[in-house]
Amino acid sequence: MHLVWFRNDLRLVDNPALYHACASGEPVRAVVCLTPAQWAEHNESEARINLWSARLDWLETQLEQSGIELTRLELSRFSDCSAALSRLAEDVSAKALHFNYEYPLNERNRDRAVCESLNAQGVEALGYHGDVIVPPGSVVTGNGTPFKVFTPFSRAWMKQLLRLEHAPLPLPEGLSLASSERVTLPVPLGVRQSREQVYPVSDAGLLALLQRFIVEQEPDYQRLRDYPARHGTSGLSPALTIGALSARQCLAALKQACQDDSWQHSIWLNELVWREFYRHLLVSFPELSRYAPFRPEVAARIHWCHNEAHFDAWKAGETGFPIVDAAMKQLNATGWMHNRLRMIVASFLTKLLRIDWRKGEAWFMSRLMDGDFASNLGGWAWSASVGADAAPYFRIFNPQLQSEKFDPNGEFVAEWLPELRHLEPKERHKPGAGQRYGRPAPIIDYKAARKAALDDYNNS
Ligand code: FAD
Repeated sequence: MHLVWFRNDLRLVDNPALYHACASGEPVRAVVCLTPAQWAEHNESEARINLWSARLDWLETQLEQSGIELTRLELSRFSDCSAALSRLAEDVSAKALHFNYEYPLNERNRDRAVCESLNAQGVEALGYHGDVIVPPGSVVTGNGTPFKVFTPFSRAWMKQLLRLEHAPLPLPEGLSLASSERVTLPVPLGVRQSREQVYPVSDAGLLALLQRFIVEQEPDYQRLRDYPARHGTSGLSPALTIGALSARQCLAALKQACQDDSWQHSIWLNELVWREFYRHLLVSFPELSRYAPFRPEVAARIHWCHNEAHFDAWKAGETGFPIVDAAMKQLNATGWMHNRLRMIVASFLTKLLRIDWRKGEAWFMSRLMDGDFASNLGGWAWSASVGADAAPYFRIFNPQLQSEKFDPNGEFVAEWLPELRHLEPKERHKPGAGQRYGRPAPIIDYKAARKAALDDYNNS
């Protein structure tokens, strides 16, 4: 018997752990560890848990019809995985356990403990790089050291990619996909519905979403990706985060749609490379998983404010800055936020309110449907100027200008703050807009807050 341990890799296609277990020719059993008490204790996002659970149900049905049983181990803590998997391996006389690597430090420590205890009982533990296109550790500078800056990383990443076999692995032999899947294409992410109901969980639904994006939107991605009202991005992050789709499947779809080598210059692919960069960094610099700043010299000059009223206003979307508030209301209602808005609200929290980026990071993880430790940590540390290749500290987004530039007709802000529909589009961006209709007054004065942040930083 070979075991496959599913985690954030809930897919049948391009799943190296499942593929190699099936290729062993031995009977295969799937296993998953559930730790609901710990999810609650860590305030993990309900939207993400619901999506993960729905996809797990889908996966179980698919596995069952190919004769693979899924065992659900309900545990009180993450650290109990090792003992529970050892017991299961013994019960079913497993010869091996296959799993795809996860890169945050806690997960790597957990996996190390699992491997040690299985090996001690004579069970092989086999790990694979299924969550990235190019494995961590294989993209290094000429001196063999890890890259700390994105652009040279991305060039070296591409060179490495071209040397590697990177086509997705097929469905393992002997497995089949149910043909009766109903495909309902979801509304674009971030639209007001509760997205657990509309986000696809089946392969058919997800592949249709990927294909539609690649054919209809990817060619315009560079032009539209920064406008939250335009839905110009793929909306695939929730699927990538739980591993329902792999980054290699995304790359393969992109390559297939291009007639030539133009895929190598795709701006969309570049975003997937950011995803890889943050994963590679976690492996090269494990202390990042413990929230150590990548640039301690910058972090040492920042003094965080402990203003709970400001933090609460930010969380609730009641700061009086329309673009910030609309974005936070979108997050709270749907579990998703557009990338441009993530940068704006993170800059607002960390630079203008001067609230610790780790509080924002944790709030995002408690709300996002695509909450992903590496990307979220990277995005927050970047926004606060303490991350790798981060924005310089003096780069502080002006929420009003960002709103005028990226939501020129005020459509996005009016979608989430209906009070602003009474105003002319150009009036919707100003701090304090819509007070007559019930919107709050701005909690800070932008210019004064910006000056205070820079003065404090420069005088430290
Ligand atoms: P697309 O534009 O279609 O991009 C395709 C894929 O590339 C995404 O699905 C995602 O997997 C990856 N990607 C895109 N941009 C980035 C990026 N800047 N960094 C890393 N990967 C990227 N992304 C998450 O998946 N989970 C998070 O928890 C997360 N938290 C973030 C927090 C902050 C403060 C910031 C600034 C960014 C964060 N991002 C996070 C990155 C990015 O905002 C989302 O990946 C993106 O908005 C998802 O939408 P999409 O699938 O339509 O992206």
